[in-house]
Amino acid sequence: MVYYIDIKNMVKKNSTISIRFPDGDNKEFPAGITAAKIAEGISQNLNRHALAAKFNGRIIGLHDPINDNGEILILTFNDEEGRDVFWHSSAHLMAQAIKRIFPQAQLGIGPPIEDGFYYDIDLDRPITPEDFQAIETEMSKLVDADLKISRQELSREQAIELFKKMGENLKIDLISGIDEKLSTYSQGEFTDLCRGPHLPSTGRIGKNFKLLSVAGSYWHGDEKNKMLQRLYATAYPDANMLKDHLHRIEEAKKRDHRKLGRELDLFSIDDEVGGGLILWHPKGAVIRNMIESFWKEEHAKNGYQLVYTPHLALLHLWERSGHTGFYKENMYQPIEVEGIKYQIKPMNCPFHIMIYNSQLHSYRDLPLRYAELGTVYRYERSGVLHGLMRVRGFTQDDAHIYCTPQQLTEELIQVLKFNNYMLSTFGFKEYKVFLSTRPENSVGTTENWENATAALRQALENTGVSYQVDPGEGVFYGPKIDIKIKDVLGRMWQCSTIQVDFNLPEKFNIRYVGEDGGYHQPIMIHRALLGSLERFFGILIEHYAGGFPLWLAPLQVIILPITERHHERAREIDHQLLQDGIRCMVDLRNEKINLKIREAELQKIPYMLILGDKEIENGSVSVRRKGSGNLGSVVLAELKERIMNEIKSKN
Ligand code: ZN
Repeated sequence: MVYYIDIKNMVKKNSTISIRFPDGDNKEFPAGITAAKIAEGISQNLNRHALAAKFNGRIIGLHDPINDNGEILILTFNDEEGRDVFWHSSAHLMAQAIKRIFPQAQLGIGPPIEDGFYYDIDLDRPITPEDFQAIETEMSKLVDADLKISRQELSREQAIELFKKMGENLKIDLISGIDEKLSTYSQGEFTDLCRGPHLPSTGRIGKNFKLLSVAGSYWHGDEKNKMLQRLYATAYPDANMLKDHLHRIEEAKKRDHRKLGRELDLFSIDDEVGGGLILWHPKGAVIRNMIESFWKEEHAKNGYQLVYTPHLALLHLWERSGHTGFYKENMYQPIEVEGIKYQIKPMNCPFHIMIYNSQLHSYRDLPLRYAELGTVYRYERSGVLHGLMRVRGFTQDDAHIYCTPQQLTEELIQVLKFNNYMLSTFGFKEYKVFLSTRPENSVGTTENWENATAALRQALENTGVSYQVDPGEGVFYGPKIDIKIKDVLGRMWQCSTIQVDFNLPEKFNIRYVGEDGGYHQPIMIHRALLGSLERFFGILIEHYAGGFPLWLAPLQVIILPITERHHERAREIDHQLLQDGIRCMVDLRNEKINLKIREAELQKIPYMLILGDKEIENGSVSVRRKGSGNLGSVVLAELKERIMNEIKSKN
């Protein structure tokens, strides 16, 4: 035994290892080589941009020794994992600066997030934007000092003792929740509990960072715990990237749907009504109505049948469907009527199943497609509610398709194509597609999960869509495809979901009579294309910055008579346009024309028709089109045709 171990160690010490590169190339290196050295050997450019590496699927630091054969990928800021390492190291840098300025501060967690990082801090005084400058200056000094970032591994007892000595009680609390091997990272006098990896030194972070905001945040996200200060910041490897990012933040602020919703009088959320419950104002309702009409028309064309279902049902229904078991935390408490419990609906699915089951179906009826703009209610913690984006009551553009196993892939392909058509009509042409597989907490047999996942995969491949697998992110009853759309600022928004379900058909014993005369179980597809109308509306507002395309604009045309003697003709034109279904009004206020124009611009009305003596004389109007400026004098009939065509094109 001893002999064997000795031989093994000897071989290892003197050996070379074989490293495989993403392009399939293999190279030999001495054992103990680092990713930094490997990157340097590839190109100076890669060496400069390298942030970490992925070795046999694990993220490692640039200076960690590699002793085994395996596959390597050098990570840069272009890789999500590379960005995470960069931002995580930046979070440590910020924490160190904070501790230098406020030694009494206690540190919570400091993870990378989608476009930057934050650190939760417990401090006896509020950190304000006025403190940001001082923290940034301190961070710059730490970058100049180029402190080496080093890793230490330690036992639970050692870790607790270390953080006790440092007075970092939150870290001690964190240690009790970690099962894996504990490690810390140090730079200069600063040590943090951390899994890593990190950049090799503080100098590698550079100075393109910016503290952005501070917000309250409960420890462990629990309102019963102490409120900490969450300090948000971002950092980039390059000054222009930081500049672009800050510009995007400014743009996003201007486009914030809550701000525009108020200014354009589209919707509101009232404390007396309740958080996460949306009041659609007349102008918002016009847009919703246009979305709904278009949605219904297109669904009819695609072979869907419209249904309506109630907002409540017996609790028993949700027990049978499995929702009370697997979806409980998203549901409200049941209410009692005449001693019987009812549940407000979190989903529409069981209702559509009851409609299917109300009669016997033959294979000739399939696929059957039921569609509903169904309003559902789901519990969201008050702390996470956000305008139209995260609400407690929302309307899903829902549908359930019942089909035979043979029809499944073809049906999924149809749904994907239909989805593409719907989203692109609203102006979203770029997507990110995810295939989510079986979660830990789920129902159904392995075989069913595999078949369903295979059908989704097949449909994606047949439509030529590139996608990413999201392991374990499926719903409790089946795998799904999620589609995120890209808005004008490059932000991704989750909208569409397409889910295959073998489970509910089984639970509700739904059947059809097959060609063989026997009973068979259909497969159920759940799908929502826009997702939630509330959320989709929020995305539309921000995407268009409130300047909606003509077909959706609440008010399409405003007529601005210059003086009172032009009022009569203005009313006539208004009447004519209304007759053609154009949403129009006249501004009859006794105000200066320039003021009227400015206000119409602020309201983002697509067409302004200005009417004075000259226009009345030659039967025209002077036209301003939002986005294209002054179109000059146009004959009314011609203008009407132009507007009608533009509405029809939905462009
Ligand atoms: Zn459903």
